[in-house]
Amino acid sequence: MGWVEVTFKTLFQVFSMISASDLSAWDFCPRQVYFRRVLGIKPEKKEVMIKGTIKHSIFERLIDSYKKTGSFDIEKIIEDTISEYNEDFEKFGTNMDELREDLKWSFSILEEKINKNEFPIPEFCERWIESENLGLKARVDVIFDESGEWVVGDLKTNVSDFLGPKLQIGVGALLFEENMNTEVNKIKIISHNIWEEKEVELTDELREQILETRDEIKQMIESEEIPSLCENPNKCASCDFWESHCNPKKKSEKKTENGVKKSF
Ligand code: SF4
Repeated sequence: MGWVEVTFKTLFQVFSMISASDLSAWDFCPRQVYFRRVLGIKPEKKEVMIKGTIKHSIFERLIDSYKKTGSFDIEKIIEDTISEYNEDFEKFGTNMDELREDLKWSFSILEEKINKNEFPIPEFCERWIESENLGLKARVDVIFDESGEWVVGDLKTNVSDFLGPKLQIGVGALLFEENMNTEVNKIKIISHNIWEEKEVELTDELREQILETRDEIKQMIESEEIPSLCENPNKCASCDFWESHCNPKKKSEKKTENGVKKSF
C-alpha cells in the first residue's frame, strides 16, 4: 500500500469521525450538524470567533512561556498574537484599543491566580486527540494533572454547565483516557474571561449520553435525513442558518422565485 493511499484513508477516517463540537452543536440543534456535516457548509468567520481563537492562542503561549521561564510577558504575547490576525480585525473594523484592554485585563487576572496558586498549570494545552475505536475526535483545550488525577477542561466564555459543553469536554476526556490508558473522573469548564472554573463529574450517565449522541449523529450523517426545525425560537434567532436555510418564509420565496422550485 502506497503512502498516498494510506494518507487518503487516514484523512477519510478522520473526516468521518464525529467531533466534540458536533456533539455540542447537536445538543443545541441537530440541524446545525446536518448543515455542516452533510451539506458541508462552513461557519462564516465572525469577529467573536477570532477573538475566541486569540484567547486560546494567548493562553497557550503564556502557559508555554511560564513552563519554560517561570514567568510571562503578557503585553508582548498579546501583541505577537494580535498581529497574526490584523487582516481579520481590519475587515471587521475592530476597536483595537478596546480589544487590547480587554485582553490585558483578563490575562492579568490569570497571572495573579497563577502566582497565588489559584489556577493550576496544565500539563497539556490544545491537544488534538482522535480514536478510530471510539469514532471520535477532539481538540482538547487543557489537561491538568491534579495530584495524580487527570482533569480535562475547556475554555469558554462562562462556566454554564449546559449539556452541550459537558458532552464536548466529555469527548476529550474519553479520548484522553483511551490515548493514555488512564481514567478521568472529572472535567472542568473554565471561563477565559475571569478564569473561574466549574468542575463536573464524568459520570456513567454522561459517558452514555456521549456515546448515544455520537451514534445519533452518525445515523443522521449516514441517512442524510434533515432533522426537524428546532422548537426554540430564541435559538433560531441567534443561529446563522435561520435566514439562509431555516426561515420558512425565505424558503417559500426561493421556491417560487421565477416559478421554479429550488431546494437547499
Ligand atoms: S435556525 Fe433554528 S432550526 Fe435552523 S439550524 Fe439554527 S437553530 Fe436549528
